[in-house]
Amino acid sequence: MSEEVFKKVVSHAKEYGFVFPSSEIYDGLGAVYDYGQNGVELKNNLRTYWWKAMVQMHENIVGIDAAIFMHPKVWKASGHIDGFSDPMIDNKDSKKRYRADQLIENQIAELQMQATAMVIQETGIDIHHEQMSAIFDEPNEKYKRFFEEHAKNPLTLKANNLQSRLDNALLNNDLAELKKIIEDEKIKCEVSKTSNWTEVRQFNLMFATEMGAMAEDADKVYLRPETAQGIFVNFLNVQKTGRMKIPFGIAQTGKAFRNEIIARQFIMRMREFEQMEMQFFIRPGTQKQWYEYWKEARIQWHNKLGFGKEKYRFHDHVKLAHYADAAVDIEFDFPFGFKEMEGIHSRTDFDLRNHQELSGKKMQYFDAELDENGKPYGNYVPYVIETSIGLDRLFLATLCACYKEEEVGEEDKKDTRVVLTLPSLLAPYKVAIFPLTKKDGLPEKARVIMDELKLEYNCFYEEKDAIGKRYRRQDALGTPFCITVDHDTLNDDTVTIRYRDTMQQERIPAAKIKEILREELDWKKLLG
Ligand code: ATP
Repeated sequence: MSEEVFKKVVSHAKEYGFVFPSSEIYDGLGAVYDYGQNGVELKNNLRTYWWKAMVQMHENIVGIDAAIFMHPKVWKASGHIDGFSDPMIDNKDSKKRYRADQLIENQIAELQMQATAMVIQETGIDIHHEQMSAIFDEPNEKYKRFFEEHAKNPLTLKANNLQSRLDNALLNNDLAELKKIIEDEKIKCEVSKTSNWTEVRQFNLMFATEMGAMAEDADKVYLRPETAQGIFVNFLNVQKTGRMKIPFGIAQTGKAFRNEIIARQFIMRMREFEQMEMQFFIRPGTQKQWYEYWKEARIQWHNKLGFGKEKYRFHDHVKLAHYADAAVDIEFDFPFGFKEMEGIHSRTDFDLRNHQELSGKKMQYFDAELDENGKPYGNYVPYVIETSIGLDRLFLATLCACYKEEEVGEEDKKDTRVVLTLPSLLAPYKVAIFPLTKKDGLPEKARVIMDELKLEYNCFYEEKDAIGKRYRRQDALGTPFCITVDHDTLNDDTVTIRYRDTMQQERIPAAKIKEILREELDWKKLLG
C-alpha cells in the first residue's frame, strides 16, 4: 500500500465519521484528534478485544483504572523527570524542529530503498510488496539471490554503517556525534532545503500543569506519559485485596500524554493518545521465559485479526530504555513502512524498587512456594514483563489493513466500491436494517426486527436512498450484514440478507437473522 492509498484512508476516516482533527473549526490542534461516531465504536471494540484476551482469558490478570494525575514523585522514581527526553535539532532557516535520531533513520531508510531499486535493476528480480508472504513462506533460489545481492550492495553497506553509528551515539547519549552524523550525511531540512542546524539538545516530553488554587503554593503535576506507573503504585493494593499469587498481571487502558517534538502521520504519533498496558509480575530469574511467553502470546493476538502474518515483524531494541533488560517491538507494515505498534519490555524490578526507595513503602511479595532446596522463595521485589500497545496505532493499522477499493459490476456498468473488511466483531455496526420503501408498513416491520436485535448488537437503520446506495454506505463503514425488508416480508416474514464481503444476497426467514449473527459474532473467533 502506498502513501497515495494512505491519503485515501485518512480522508475516508474523516468522511465516514471515524476520526476528526481536534477543534477543527479553529483549524485544529497539532497532533490531537477526536474519534467520531463510527471511530468510537471501532476503538471500543478493539479495546474490548484486548481486554477480553488479556483480562477475561487469564485467571491471573486483573484490570484497574488509575487516575491520569499522579503524585509528582512517581515520575522521579520512574526516571521520567530525568530521562524521558528525545534528542532534538532545529533548522535555523526554517525554524522547523526535528528529532535528530529520526532524521538519521530517514536517511538510512532512503539508502535502503535506493539499494533495493538498484538490486532490482541489476538482477531483474522484482520484489513486489504482494509477494512478501510468498518470499517468507517458501524462500526460493530467486529470492535468496536477491537478498544476497542486496546484502552486498554498497548502499546497503553504507546504510548498515550509518545504523551502527546511530546506535552507538544513542547508546552513549552522545549528542555531538548525532550532530556530526547529520553534518557528515549532509542531511537537509525538508522545508528550507538547507543544512543550517543548531546543536542537538535533549527535550523532555512530559506535559506539566499545576494543581491547587493558589499559584504560589500550587504543586507541579504531570499528565502521565504512560499508564504503567498507575499499575506499579497499585501493585500492593491489588496483590493484597485480590490475594494474587505470582506470576500475576495487572492490566489497564487509558490516556497518556507526550509532547512529541514532531508529530505526523495522522494518529500514528499524537500528543494525547491511549495505551493498553499489562504489567506481569514474576519471580526474579524467570524473566527470559516470561518475556518469550508474552512475545509469542502477543504476536498470536495480532495474527488472529487476520490481516496477514507478513504485516508484522519483531524488532529487537539495541538501545534499551533506562528500565529494561530486554525489549522488542512488534512492528506493523503501515503504508509508510514498518513502524512500532506494540512494545514488550522486560522491566526488571526497576520501577517497584525505585518506588520502594522514594516512598519508603516496601514493594515486596512473600513467595511461599518452595525452591529446589525445599525452602520458600520468601520476600522479594518482583520482576516485571510489560506488554504495551497504542490503541490509536492499532486503530490505524486496522483501517489500513481493511480499506479496500474493489472493481465491481458487469462490463458496461463497471464501478469501484470502497469496503472496510473489518473482522465482524470489530465493525462499528454489526447489522443495518433497511425498509425497501418508506411506505406500506415496511418501516414499521423493519423497526420490529431492529428492536429484536438492538439489545445485543449495534444496529443501523436507514430508509433514505436507493438500496444499492445504502449497501455501499454500509460497506464503507464495514458493516458485515444488511437486512432488507420488502413487501414479501409482510406476507411470509422473510428478509434479504446481504453479506459485505461477497455482496451476495440471500432470502431467509426473519427468525434466522439472530442465528446467523450469533454464529458470525462469536468471540471464539478471535479468542478461541
Ligand atoms: P515511539 O518509539 O514510536 O515513540 P515508544 O517506544 O516511545 O514509541 P512506548 O513508550 O513503548 O513507545 O509506548 C508503548 C506504545 O504506545 C507504542 O508501541 C505505541 O503504540 C504507543 N505510543 C507511544 N507514543 C505514542 C504517540 N505519541 N502516539 C500514539 N501512540 C503512541
